[in-house]
Amino acid sequence: MKPEYLYKYPKTLLNKGTGFLSGYSHSLNPYTGCSFGCSYCYVRQMPVSTFRDAEWGSWVDIKKDAAVVFQKELRRAKTKGPVTIFMSSSTDPYQPIEYKEQITRSMLEVMAGDPPDFLFVQTRSPLVRRDIDLFLRLGDKVRVSMTVETDREDIRKHFSPNAPPISARLKTLQLLADAGVPTQATIAPMLPSSEEFAERLRSLVNRVCLDDYFMGDGSGGKRTRNLGIHALYKQLGLEEWYHPAAYRKVYERLIQVFSEEQIYVSQKGFEP
Ligand code: SF4
Repeated sequence: MKPEYLYKYPKTLLNKGTGFLSGYSHSLNPYTGCSFGCSYCYVRQMPVSTFRDAEWGSWVDIKKDAAVVFQKELRRAKTKGPVTIFMSSSTDPYQPIEYKEQITRSMLEVMAGDPPDFLFVQTRSPLVRRDIDLFLRLGDKVRVSMTVETDREDIRKHFSPNAPPISARLKTLQLLADAGVPTQATIAPMLPSSEEFAERLRSLVNRVCLDDYFMGDGSGGKRTRNLGIHALYKQLGLEEWYHPAAYRKVYERLIQVFSEEQIYVSQKGFEP
């Protein structure tokens, strides 16, 4: 089903970094809503979603002309202190509508001309590769974090059927790294994966973040429990993966091929 798109003309773009993102001065969401509509997305439970009648994933608000507002806000924020930006906390900045609308790219153009102290880009979309030219202008002030919750495509389809295939994400990590853009692979939320997962990542990145619902959903796993995610594990007979200790299994695999300093657990992996 095609999402419903609406144009909005926001007066502000930058939000204060709070909670899980308290290490950042700001968060930045080029869209409201997200057409990837992942089953485990905790934003489903936040007011932005619960105040809408339509199902999370079925609507997206496009922040039209956002760059003009953002440019002024960024300039003002920089006069007040260091500006570190997390993009994005409640949407994917490279969801499909970005191909056409280029709101995220317009924000990056602003930042390439007037760099913040640091920009963290969180996505699961191969479209991020389009903006390599702008990331390179930001140099070491940017890190692109690609979500790869699993290396198993059957698992990806089960939990987030509308999100991009894993192979395209891994290929994109390779392209970003080859171009010289700082990257990380983000296994979050950690889904059931194969024994070869760590090895697959080894040649692509030198930094991995591992996070699960219990450490990373901001409520000790309660938010995720309310989404009924357990049933999705049960359907596959993989309930042992829905457990606070399950991340150790993946950590043990990672530590076979990465050094301890290259593996970041939960919030540490998202810090500036
Ligand atoms: S891509 Fe991110 S913001 Fe979008 S639905 Fe999935 S988890 Fe939520």
